[in-house]
Amino acid sequence: MAELQISEPYSPLEKFSLQAWEPFGLKVELKREDLSHPFISGNKWRKLKYPLIEAARLDKTKLLTFGGAWSNHILATAAAGAKYGFKTTGIIRGEPITNPVLNLAKLFGMKLHFCSREAYKNKEQLAIQYQGEDVYLIPEGGDCLAGEMGAGEVLQQLPNNIHLCCSVGTGSTFSGLLHAAANQQRTVHLHGFAVLKGADYLLPRFESANHTDFSFHTDSHFGGYAKTKPELIDFIAQVASQTGVLVDQVYEGKMLLRLHKLITEGYFSPGTHLVILHNGGLSGLLGLNKN
Ligand SMILES: *Cc1c(COP(=O)(O)O)cnc(C)c1O
Repeated sequence: MAELQISEPYSPLEKFSLQAWEPFGLKVELKREDLSHPFISGNKWRKLKYPLIEAARLDKTKLLTFGGAWSNHILATAAAGAKYGFKTTGIIRGEPITNPVLNLAKLFGMKLHFCSREAYKNKEQLAIQYQGEDVYLIPEGGDCLAGEMGAGEVLQQLPNNIHLCCSVGTGSTFSGLLHAAANQQRTVHLHGFAVLKGADYLLPRFESANHTDFSFHTDSHFGGYAKTKPELIDFIAQVASQTGVLVDQVYEGKMLLRLHKLITEGYFSPGTHLVILHNGGLSGLLGLNKN
C-alpha cells in the first residue's frame, strides 16, 4: 500500500460557558474534537492515526481489535478501516447481542466475534486464531504507544498557560498529553478526570511522563464505568439545552459534571484560562434513556 495520508481533522476551539459559571470570571474554551468525524471522533481519531499509518506501511490489509459492545474504539476502527481501505474484525466482550453501535460497526463492514467475559480476559491469546500475515492488531481502546503519540498531538493546537481538562478511561490519551507537554516544555496544567472507580493505579503511568504539572481527579466516576445517575443525565440535558453541545454519559458528561462542581466551588481563581477537550464518543448517547 502507498503511504497512508491522514489529514488533520476539523476541530475548532470555541468559547464555552454554562450560566452557573459566569460569576467566576474564568475564560473557558471547548476543543471540539467531537466534530472531527461522526464515528471516528475525538481521541479515537488521534489514537488510530499512527497505528493505521503503520499498518499501511507494513502492507497489512486487515485490522483486528477488541472492545465492549458499546465501545467507541470498535466503531471508530470499523469506520476508519472502511475509510482507509482495511478490512476489520472486532472481538466483542460478552454474549452475542446487537445494539445501535454494533449495527453501525457492521454497516462499515466489520466482522464481529463475540467471546465470553472469561475468555476475553485472555484476549491476546484469543486473537491468535484470527492472526495472519495480513492482520494488524490494535490493542483494546487503541491503548498503545503509537496511540498515545497521536493523542498528544492535539496539544500543538492549544495555547500556553492553560488548565487543560481531559477524561480518563484507559489513560492513554492523558498519558499522551503529559508526554507531549513534557517534550514540548509547555506551561500547561493538565487535569485528568477518571471515569472508572479506583483509577489510582494509573498514577505511576502518569508520573512517569515527567510532566509534574497535573491533577488527577479520581472522584468523577459517578458510580463506576458506564454507570449513570439521574444527576448526570439531568446535567447532560442542561449542557445540551444551554450550549447546543452534546456530551455522552460514559466519558465527557462525567468529566464536565465534576468540572462543573469544581468551578462552582471556586476551585479555579478568577482569570484562569480553561480548555476542555471534547473527545467525542456521542454514539454512547444511543444507549441513553432520558425521562
Ligand atoms: C475512549 C474515550 C475516552 C477515554 O480515553 P482513554 O485514552 O482510554 O483514556 C474518553 N472520551 C471518549 C469520548 C472516548 O471515546
